[in-house]
Amino acid sequence: MYKGFVFDLDDTLMDNVHDYSEPILDATKLIIDAVGYRAPHVVQIINMYQEIDLSRRKQIDPTTGTHYGYSKRRFPGSLVETYRAICQKVDWPPLEEIEKEIWAVGLNAFSEVRYARNIKRSAVELLRFLVDSKDGVAILTKGDLEVQKTKIDCLFKVCRERGCNTAKIQVRIVDTEKTVSDFSEIKQSMPECDPWYVVGNDYHKDIEPALEVGFYGFWIPVETWESLGKIQEIKNSMNKGRCNDYDALDKILAIYDALP
Ligand SMILES: [Mg+2]
Repeated sequence: MYKGFVFDLDDTLMDNVHDYSEPILDATKLIIDAVGYRAPHVVQIINMYQEIDLSRRKQIDPTTGTHYGYSKRRFPGSLVETYRAICQKVDWPPLEEIEKEIWAVGLNAFSEVRYARNIKRSAVELLRFLVDSKDGVAILTKGDLEVQKTKIDCLFKVCRERGCNTAKIQVRIVDTEKTVSDFSEIKQSMPECDPWYVVGNDYHKDIEPALEVGFYGFWIPVETWESLGKIQEIKNSMNKGRCNDYDALDKILAIYDALP
């Protein structure tokens, strides 16, 4: 029997949280330059952006008839909308070339260079090792289809450059929280593998549903701004019979031979 592994993507195989910060700063600078002395204070511009971006997530995109969600249409779009809202307030017509520039710096959030830089230490080595061992490997990630696909394409490109056969890695992108059936379907699709392990940074969202269908958990908590101070509490309540917490991906390689 081979082993089976399901990996989360964001903050597990790739860092993710700050993809948007730099493009937001760059766009804010463009707005300040364009609107000049009539521009709001930088704090106010960022607040306006955040409000517009949050409400846009729930809006319907007229070109697709679906929610903007976390798509590329939402994000640089919300920066452009911020510029338009400021122009409207000061009663200046928004300039198309500025809108295009803002859109372009916003798209940097999804750039291949940024994604390649975000790949976690040992991620490629671990994937290659598991594929070479003929273990079942899948990536199960929640998010916008196009955005997640771009990240995975970039990860796989780097993997292939380092000799990992990515054709053996199953990919599943879901737009709602991961469910028990996502995990059991992956398991059923590779009946030659047992036992199964799940690897993720979010105990409740990545690990818990998998534990319900017999997986063992590798929880690799990531101390982001959002999770500061919450990790110990989750550690205390974690299912210690089926899940352990580790500080980095390479621990999996280190204990691979001793896995249950
Ligand atoms: Mg994650």
